[in-house]
Order: sequence, then structure tokens, then C-alpha cells
Amino acid sequence: MHGLMMDTPLLIKNIAQHAERNHGFREIVSITSDHERHRYTVAESCARARRVSNLLNRLGCSPDARVATLAWNDFRHLELYYGVSCSGRVLHTINPRLFAEQLVYIINHAADEWVFFDPAFTSVLEEVAEKCPLVKGYIALTSAAHMPQTTLPNLHCYETLLESESDAYVWPDFDERTASSLCYTSGTTGNPKGVLYNHRSTVLHCYGLALPDAASLSAMDAILPVVPMFHVNAWGYPYAGMMVGAKLIFPGHKLADPETLVDLINEEGATLAGGVPTVWLPLLEYLRKSGRTIASLDRTVIGGSACPLAMIEEFRDQHQVTVLHGWGMTEMSPLGVVNRVNSKTSELSGAALQAHIVKQGRPLPGVDLKIVDENNAELPWDGVSFGALKVRGLWICSDYYGLDHPSDAHDADGWFDTGDVAMIDAQGYVKITDRTKDVIKSGGEWISSIDLENVAMSHPAVRECAVVGMHHPKWQERPLLVVVTDAPHDGLREQLLAFFDGQVAKWWIPDDVIYVEQLPHTATGKISKLELRGQLSAYQFPGT
Ligand code: ADP
Repeated sequence: MHGLMMDTPLLIKNIAQHAERNHGFREIVSITSDHERHRYTVAESCARARRVSNLLNRLGCSPDARVATLAWNDFRHLELYYGVSCSGRVLHTINPRLFAEQLVYIINHAADEWVFFDPAFTSVLEEVAEKCPLVKGYIALTSAAHMPQTTLPNLHCYETLLESESDAYVWPDFDERTASSLCYTSGTTGNPKGVLYNHRSTVLHCYGLALPDAASLSAMDAILPVVPMFHVNAWGYPYAGMMVGAKLIFPGHKLADPETLVDLINEEGATLAGGVPTVWLPLLEYLRKSGRTIASLDRTVIGGSACPLAMIEEFRDQHQVTVLHGWGMTEMSPLGVVNRVNSKTSELSGAALQAHIVKQGRPLPGVDLKIVDENNAELPWDGVSFGALKVRGLWICSDYYGLDHPSDAHDADGWFDTGDVAMIDAQGYVKITDRTKDVIKSGGEWISSIDLENVAMSHPAVRECAVVGMHHPKWQERPLLVVVTDAPHDGLREQLLAFFDGQVAKWWIPDDVIYVEQLPHTATGKISKLELRGQLSAYQFPGT
């Protein structure tokens, strides 16, 4: 027997319509290349998003066209989020930091019809445009006065085009499984793979993200997504923030500038900010040096790679900011787990608390997890056993877009192999040990590079670090600590190695320390261990 409830499809337009009706006055603030601080309201944003839908019709976009963006976080990108998806088309957010060959591959693979771009990325596109024959034209996200000088074919100005469009557009109802946006994973090996979200998964993820034991979003929040809108839909904040009626603050091209971020936090009253650990390192350093504060900020959501203990403690103890450590991935929309207290963990203190807060957290309702051994047998949640982490759930991809054959990342029962190794404790808190490919195998035992990095990052001389497994003639692999530091190198190696004593098992302590000016980062701002291992290919442990 069916229940007698309305069969309303889960559509992104409902987020916009709810926001416009109930929070229409709420402010959206952006930095763009043509505005120092642009501000308008949710109502204005929704009206302009409808103009975008009209524009796509006038440009002759097919009903399920992929419409690409190469853009920073700002109000125009937000308008495209809604205007493209709510008209039934697919918003393809492209990471402009990818290499030219990768850009060509994904633009052609997605068969993007139009590309909306920030003028800052004009030269990036000029380099690839000839090799992207399916693109019908390029639309610069700016006003007529700031149009770039470029050879890009069929170039238009976004503001000029929008001027002649109407605010009226009735976003249609359609199947909630209709594709809404597309994001390619950076693909450390092989070609990037497209994750194709739909309206249903996006709306469900949005509800999940807003829950009290996730980001706990409300109409009183002011959200600063530092995570780019081309990185898994800025982790869902452009949707969830609108839904709850939060103020949205977009840093535009200034997302890596700690002074501007602190200005935005203080002047706009940000209560929540989200980003990968690499954006918070310079911000904390800037706060230390300048003595400035971030009094309005209540919590930061940090994920994308492991958040070091030292960072969690510095936010908490120096700035009264709660770090919400989270784990997820592009294939998971992205949020899987968040470290929030429960009635047992709230009683922890001292070393037990430290060991707990570096965990990535417990799963959101809607996400099912398990760890398995090499025979795919499920391992216990005892906080000790570790194995491959598999997931399934409401906002997890069932396959990749446009592959010739089904992906081998899913098993016969539909579980998706995340490529991470983890342990899970009795209360469901997940601790990521490593990416499968980064685990260090020493004499048949595994060493967690994340645990070692966590210890090293607590040392005051360490600005940034990575631990990688390097070949060892006797042990197969041994950990090597690679450090970025401003401190004099004299005697530092011995100090650093001694610092691990008592914090990890003796045989985990790295065999050597080397210094680098900077560590290589991926297009999403994470340390690229693949590139680092490449740079270190000639390295040999002393005495081997
Ligand atoms: P990519 O980095 O390949 O572009 P994603 O952004 O989807 O793609 O990265 C997902 C991966 O990032 C996860 O599988 C995991 O290895 C890593 N990751 C994400 N959050 C965390 C975290 N809090 N701690 C450790 N690793 C994390």
C-alpha cells in the first residue's frame, strides 16, 4: 500500500524558490575582478538566475546541455549554479588549475556547449580553445567595461547578455534523477573521471550538510566558502546556505590571501568558513603575526586532506573556533563523515581527546560505511582493525560519466571503494590512515603517513610537511619526513626525530628528514605525494 503523501520531486529549484520567498532580503557578498565588494540580495540573485535560464534558451543550448564554468567563488557563479541546473541543463564546474591537456580532455569528454569564464582565466582558455571544437562560444563573467582582450572565438559579455533577458522564467518540474552538475576528479593517474550529480542527490546532500551534527547551518549563519565552487560544488554551501537563509560571503580570486579572508570574516561577520588545511595554514600564521582576531567565526569545516591536530588546537585555543573535521570525496557530493561530539566523546580530555579529535568523524545519516580486508570480508568497528573503506548511500555516485565500461570502483553489491584505508571505532568514528597508494609498507607492517604528519605538524619549527614511504633495501619502505621550515636547519633533524619519541611506536619514526622550499600541491590544494615521490626519485636513505 502506498502512503498518501505528495510526490514532490527533490529539485534544486525548490531550494532557490524557498530561499527567495523566505530569505529574499538576505545578503550575498562577493569579491570579483570588477567589484571590490559586490553586494546584493538572495531575491536579486534568484531573479538573475532566471535570466541565465532565459539566456541559455536564447543561445540555443540543448535541453540537457553541459554548460561549463571556469570561475572563482562569486555571485555570478552562484547565478549559474541555479540558472543552469534549474533549467534542466548540467553545470560543469571546471578546475582552472588543471593542466591544459586535462582541460581539453574534460571539455571534450563532457561535450560542453558554452563556457562561462572569469576574465582571469582568459589565457588558460586561449591555450585550449582550438582543441575544443564542440564549444559554441565563450562568455566572460564581467561587465562591458572590463571585457578581456582575447582571441577566444564567439566571445560575449555576461552582463551585457543578461541585460536583455527577462527575470520571468518558470523553472519546470522534471524527474529528480535528472543530472544537475558535473565535476571531474583530478585523476592523479589516468584521465580525470566525471562525477555526475543529480537534483535528488544534491538536495539530499544539502539537507544532510545542514544537520546539527554536520555543519549545523541556520538562518543566523554567515558562510564563507573558501573551498572553490569548482571543487565538488564548494562542498554544497551554495545550496545549503541558500536553503537555510544564511548570508553568503564569496572571496573571489582572493581565496588564498589570508589578509582578505580575515577582512571578510570580520567585516561581514562570518560565522562559518570551509576549506582544505592548506588555506588555513597561512591564515593562522597571518593571525599570529598580525595579532588580529576572528571573533565572529564560530566554526571552520576542514577536510579534503587530514586536518593536523595542531591546527584544530590553535583554532580552538587561540581563536575559540570549533574545527569540524570532515572527510568525503568528489564521488560523495562530498560529505561522508564529520567529527562532532556525542554523549560519550564529550567527556574526553587530555591525550584521549587529542587522539579523538584528529579522527575524521562519524557518518551522516544517508551514508553507509564499512571497512574490508583484502578478501572483501568486513572488519570489526573496534578502533584497531583497518582496511579498505567502502561506502554507499543517498549522495554517492553509482558510476562515472561517459566511461566505455562500468567502473571497477563499485563491487557487485553496489559498494564504492573510496581508495582510502581507515579504521572505525565502536561509536562509528572513522580514522583515515592513508590513501591506499600512500600507505607506507615497512617490513610487512603498515605505517600511517597521516599520523606521522600530525606529530610533525605540532612541532613549532614545521610550517608544512609530508611523510612519504621511500624504498629501503631491508624494510621495503621506510618513512621519510619532508619539511618546509623557516628555522635554521642546524640540529633540527635530531630535534624533529626526537620529537616523535613517545608519540608513535619506535619503528614508525621516520628514518630521515629533508628540507624543501615548498611542497607540490594538487589542483585542489592538497599536497601531491605522487609529485613529491617523483621529485625524490633519486633519494636514498643514509647508509643504504
Ligand atoms: P582529489 O583530491 O582526487 O581531487 P577529492 O577532493 O574527491 O579528490 O579527494 C577525496 C580524497 O581526499 C579522499 O578519498 C581522501 O583520501 C582525502 N580526504 C578528504 N578528506 C580527508 C580528511 N579529512 N582526512 C584525510 N583525507 C581526506
